[in-house]
Amino acid sequence: MKRGYRYRIYPNKEQQILLEQHFGTVRFVYNRSLLIKKLMYSKFKINVSEIDLNNNLTSLKELHPWLKDINSQSLQQANKNLLTGFKNFFEGNGRYPTRKNKRNNDFSFQVPQNYQINLTTSKIYLPKIGWIKIVLHRDFLDKEVIENELVTKEVNGELILDQKLNRKLDIFKTLTVSKTSAGRYHVSILIDDHVPEPIPVEFNENTTVGIDVGIKSFAILSSGEVIENPKFLKKSLMKLKKLQKEVSRKQKGSKNRKKAIAKLAKHHQLIANQRNDFQHKISMKLISENQALVTENLNVSGMIKNHKLAQAISDVGWSEFIRKLTYKAKWYGKTILQIGRFDASSKLCNICGYKKDDLTLNDRGWECSSCKTLHDRDVNAAINIKNIALNNLNTVGTTGRACGLTGVGQRNEARSH
Ligand SMILES: [Zn+2]
Repeated sequence: MKRGYRYRIYPNKEQQILLEQHFGTVRFVYNRSLLIKKLMYSKFKINVSEIDLNNNLTSLKELHPWLKDINSQSLQQANKNLLTGFKNFFEGNGRYPTRKNKRNNDFSFQVPQNYQINLTTSKIYLPKIGWIKIVLHRDFLDKEVIENELVTKEVNGELILDQKLNRKLDIFKTLTVSKTSAGRYHVSILIDDHVPEPIPVEFNENTTVGIDVGIKSFAILSSGEVIENPKFLKKSLMKLKKLQKEVSRKQKGSKNRKKAIAKLAKHHQLIANQRNDFQHKISMKLISENQALVTENLNVSGMIKNHKLAQAISDVGWSEFIRKLTYKAKWYGKTILQIGRFDASSKLCNICGYKKDDLTLNDRGWECSSCKTLHDRDVNAAINIKNIALNNLNTVGTTGRACGLTGVGQRNEARSH
């Protein structure tokens, strides 16, 4: 099973410059390859491959010699990521790849090989950059692996973990370097412990939960349980607005404005951390309490049109939450089912199937005019989400255990009419 381990690193001034160069250049190559891929297809119907793009790097380097200062594996990785993006898109698992830019906070690059970690002095070696201070707050390897020197070596009495020693065991996968908007640097190391993923646990109606995105609360479950947004997050978001105003009040280019911007960035970081912790807790709780979990495949960009809802959706960071839920499900042998976005989910009575066409966003509760059930709008929607996913499994003819559907790619046409 593969798991990512994230650590904060503290590059010095010179290393920061090198890291920035890597971020920028990887972005440049990615965007360039995206352009080539699109152009070649639209003009000549040619499907450019990863090898083509990597070959093109050579001529790109002649044109822009500064590309040679960058770890070439990181550049090739940008091409790989781009093609993975296209593959995912065509398989229905992601959005069409778009340009990366600073504004979207695209500050990351990957190092597939040749990194080292000095466990004695807590430093990490990245090719073309050097040894950077790292805070290793938790172990990612069994002591046994280290003690038997399977992936480590001793140099001048210091214990060094070397990705190169890893060829046989193949434990260390790609490393990702990233920077947050507040200017913190992290590395995330992907580790494969070669323990197979658990076989998905069987599930039925009673052990499956439907999860609906809340507007006021974080989420609503088909069991009727409401998961509130934590109070501290609300407070932080209020303070965020205040800090944003302060920035706009200060004169452009002034020292005070710079200070206000730094304060704002720091606060963004705080909110990101708080949200991250909260999402970890909630996803863990849902995974441990249920065998299968159903969510709507939200088209977040489509929702941005509805301004109020957009605010709510981006605030809860829903897609990031689904991501956490999905990988935790894999770890614990649970199943994630997704159903397509269907507008009628809140309009359908989960008891008799009557559709209340005139239900508006402001109607929090309603009575079914056919079977007279009183519905809470959101709980009813969550139950529908669950029922549609389970019905869908039956109609697609999956008999017996309905596992193997962990794939979030299960895009369904579970639209109810
Ligand atoms: Zn009804």
